[in-house]
Parts: sequence; structure tokens; C-alpha cells
Amino acid sequence: GDNFDILIIGGGSAGLATAASILRRRRNVRLAIVEPAEAHYYQPGWTMVGAGIFDSDFTRRDEAAVMPKGAHWIKASAEHFHPEDKQVTLSDGRRVGYGVLIVCPGIKLDWKAIPGVAEAVGHYGVTSNYRYDLAPYTNRLVKQFAGGRALFTQPVMPIKCAGAPQKAMYLSCHRWEKAGVLPRSDVQFHTAGAVLFGVPAYVPALMDYVERYGIHLNFGSKLVEIDGPGRTAIFEQGTGDGVKRVAERFDMIHVVPPQVAPDFIRTSPLAADSGFVEVDETTLRHPRYPNIFGLGDACSASNAKTAAAARKQAPVVAVNALAVLDGGAPVAGYDGYGSCPLTVEAGKIVLAEFGYGGKLLPSFPNWLIDGTRPSRLSWLLKDTILPPVYWHGMLKGREWMVKPQPIAAAEHA
Ligand code: FAD
Repeated sequence: GDNFDILIIGGGSAGLATAASILRRRRNVRLAIVEPAEAHYYQPGWTMVGAGIFDSDFTRRDEAAVMPKGAHWIKASAEHFHPEDKQVTLSDGRRVGYGVLIVCPGIKLDWKAIPGVAEAVGHYGVTSNYRYDLAPYTNRLVKQFAGGRALFTQPVMPIKCAGAPQKAMYLSCHRWEKAGVLPRSDVQFHTAGAVLFGVPAYVPALMDYVERYGIHLNFGSKLVEIDGPGRTAIFEQGTGDGVKRVAERFDMIHVVPPQVAPDFIRTSPLAADSGFVEVDETTLRHPRYPNIFGLGDACSASNAKTAAAARKQAPVVAVNALAVLDGGAPVAGYDGYGSCPLTVEAGKIVLAEFGYGGKLLPSFPNWLIDGTRPSRLSWLLKDTILPPVYWHGMLKGREWMVKPQPIAAAEHA
């Protein structure tokens, strides 16, 4: 069968960036990417599509067009890992060998976990920015909303872009405020979690907007069922013996599906207890298989699952994978950086940037952007600067502001 120096599972944000970074460092390495999809998506843009700011086309590219030059594209999905034999079995039955394996197939959106949702989305006012085809429906619903009840839900963690459920809500409320329908609206946020955002420094700025828009916050409220035609959502609230089921009628509902490790990862020898690819938090190397790395949404590290995290992880894995390929040990470290640009209104963002343990890791000096306050410059980043940085920087292995740091520096970041 085929054999590669480096085999990458998943040609998403993390896989493409890592491949490009490796090929920039060593052009002649034999590298393949296993990726079944025809298209690649800039998912951070979907929040903007839902808000009517970006066209959905803007977030989509043919996979062939984003494959780094020099990478061999294997158009199939990975099914089984044989780490002892250094091989992966693909959906077409082929077995492919590798020197170093990099695993980054993303996270699974578990639509079926909530009865009624899979059938209802796209109709009856049930939508989600978590799907390319549905983000434009969010925009339509928000535009047509003439008052009534709008629900926004957030499942248990981890999810990719933990701020996205409330971003959808704030941007919708801002439009309703401008259109004058907000006073006739009952907007409710239902989160399975106990707090508005996991890093406390950002909560006060978000609470200002919750109050301004008159949003009703429901903590520990988990969406468990949707009756699409009946336009009713069922929530479970409380814990232990105190759990009660609460039904809410809605005019529109923005649902974020529960998210889990992909099945073929969860059932594989690579999995941690969480089901995700087990990695050392700093080197991103598998603790049991020294020639396997994981990154992006599929890995077990406790960072915020974001493209911003993958942007910082990719060069770390690139450097370490090449070191291991050469018979050495990992040299670069990742500090857990992740970022969540919280779109609190069209034109302003609370730019959450933090590493492991919720430690604030701002990219900009405080006088330029104070991440804990709403900022116009941060909006400019999201709206204008970050998309080209993604397509032409991150996916091309041009590593502006993401020089991989030595292991010790990352640990003390
Ligand atoms: P993905 O980019 O999802 O790629 C995974 C790839 O693996 C896919 O191409 C898939 O086809 C492939 N794959 C799956 N199974 C297999 C298999 N068996 N074999 C081979 N390949 C496989 N991030 C931010 O930084 N900022 C934001 O503002 C932001 N907002 C977001 C808003 C929304 C609505 C969403 C949905 C996400 C947002 N994110 C944001 C998160 C960001 O998109 C992800 O964290 C990022 O895409 C993770 O990259 P990844 O490569 O791990 O996964």
C-alpha cells in the first residue's frame, strides 16, 4: 500500500494549516491529507452569515483549491487506526502507512441527540448557525421576526466556539433593536451550563448587553426535545430529584447541537476517556504513541475549541512532527491559546483571548484593544482582517504572530 512520511487525517482548518506549515519548513517531505469532503468552510464566518453581514459563498471554497501545494490529497475518510503497524484503514478499504500521523478530523455535531431537532431544522422557525446551509435561514428568520418569543440554546461543553450561541443572540437582538421590534419580543437564552461565559473577565461586558437587550437568562436549562410543527421546545431544568421539564412555545429558536468526538476516534485506541484524541497539552503528542499527534477540535486538550486555537497549534505540531520524523523529541509547546470574538452588536466585539486555565492571553496591547470591553477595532478584525488572514495566512502556512515557542516558554505562558 501507500506510505507517507506524514499522514494527516482531516483537511479542515487544523489539517490544512498544519500541512502548509510542514511543507513550508520542508518542501520535499512526502505528505498526504485524508479528507472526504468536496468543500472546505470558514466556519467562523457563519455567525456573520446568520447576521446578514457575510454571504454564505464567502465562507466556502473547493477543497481542491485549499489543498497546500505539495500535499497529496486522499479523497476518502479514515476508519480505523492500527498504531502498532503505523497504518490507517480508509473507507475505500485501502491501508495507508505513515512515519508520523496527525489526527484532526474535527468534532461531531450530534443533531440526533435531541429528539425532533434533526427533523425540524430549516423549518418552523428552527435554525442553527452551526450549519452552512442553515446560517442563511437564521438571517431570514431574524429579518422577518415581527416580535414574539425567540429562544437561543447552548448545550453542555465542550462545543466548538463556545461563544457562538450567544453571538447569534446578540446580533439578532441588535437588529430587532434597530427595527423597533425588541420591545415586543421575549428573548431567552437557555444554557445547560452554570455561567454565561467560562472566563469571568468577559462576563461583565456581556451582562451589559444582556440587560440592554432585555434577555432572560436561564442557566442549567438543557434543550431535550423540539416539536417543530407545534413550535414548542422542551427544556430540562435543575439537577438530581429537582429536575423538571419546562415547555416553551417559540416563534423562532436558534439551536446549537451537543458535540462529541467523532465515532471513529471515540472507539479507537487513540481516544482519551473523553473520546477525543489523547494528547499532551503542551506538545500535542499522543502520550502512548510517540509518532502520533492530535490538534484542532478533535483533540483532548482543554483549550477553547476554535480556529484561533488551531492557528497556534498548527506550527507547534509541524515543528514537533518533523522533529519526531527525524528521530528526535518534540521541541515546541502550545500554551492553550484560543479566541472567541463575541459579537455583541454589529460593529462591536468583546475579544476573548485566553489560554489554559482561563489565563488571559491578549494579542494586542491594552490601549489598542481591551478584550474585556466592547471594541470597534475588534469588529474590524472579525469583519475585514481575519478572513483574509485565514485564507492567505493560516491555510498557506504563513505564520504571522504565531511563531511556535519552546516547550518551557509555553508552559510558563
Ligand atoms: P474542521 O475545520 O471542522 O475540519 C475537520 C475536517 O475533518 C473536515 O474537513 C471533515 O470533513 C474532516 N473529517 C471528518 N471525519 C473525517 C474522517 N473520518 N477522515 C478524514 N477526514 C475527516 N473559531 C474561531 O476561531 N473564531 C470564531 O469566531 C469561530 N466561530 C465559529 C462559529 C460557528 C458557528 C462554528 C460552527 C465554528 C466557529 N469556530 C470559530 C470554530 C472553528 O470553526 C473550529 O474550531 C475549527 O474549524 C476547527 O478546525 P478543525 O480542523 O479541528 O475542524
